[in-house]
Amino acid sequence: MSVFDFRSLQCDVLIVGGGGSGVLAGVEASKHHDLKIILTSKGPIGQSGLTPTANGGTHTCRSADEMFIEAIEGGEFLGDQNLVWFMASEIRNALDRLSDLGIPVRPLSETATYFPPVDALRTLRNVLLEKSNVDILRRVFKLRRQNLYSLQIYTG
Ligand SMILES: Cc1cc2nc3c(=O)[nH]c(=O)nc-3n(C[C@H](O)[C@H](O)[C@H](O)COP(=O)(O)OP(=O)(O)OC[C@H]3O[C@@H](n4cnc5c(N)ncnc54)[C@H](O)[C@@H]3O)c2cc1C
Repeated sequence: MSVFDFRSLQCDVLIVGGGGSGVLAGVEASKHHDLKIILTSKGPIGQSGLTPTANGGTHTCRSADEMFIEAIEGGEFLGDQNLVWFMASEIRNALDRLSDLGIPVRPLSETATYFPPVDALRTLRNVLLEKSNVDILRRVFKLRRQNLYSLQIYTG
């Protein structure tokens, strides 16, 4: 008798990793109610990866233009300018979206914002748990490219 109990799952969107990037990708994808989404993480959400160790500080600058110039000059012109512009122009919207999701985003000054990373992850995990089209999986044993987005998971 095998000690492993395997089952195969299929989804439209597979998110690997339950840090800030993963849970926010899950929140965005879950808005498409016709999609089945699986988020799988090696460690628990809120207790693994870099996000729980982060300071939660966000530098915002007075304007997108100012932030863009500061980031490009600070990066000695090595940064991808399209990506940097996206960050500079979207950061305040992103902070508003976090706030709308129930994360306590606090301005520290005119150009700095703070939110607690662990609380943020737990809040976003709870948002995902309430979504009927999202499954959060742990204990993934094997990921196969047998079919696109096919997972073989150990559920024991
Ligand atoms: C000390 C420190 C302070 C920081 N302070 C700030 C700050 O003030 N402001 C700021 O903006 N940024 C800060 N950062 C950077 C920021 O924390 C990271 O850029 C961000 O958290 C990365 O998020 P992520 O979701 O990409 O990765 P992570 O948060 O690292 O998440 C990775 C996830 O993937 C999972 N995982 C790993 N391997 C596998 C696998 N094989 N299969 C499935 N799942 C897997 C992990 O369990 C985890 O859940 C800081 C970083 C550090 C270390």
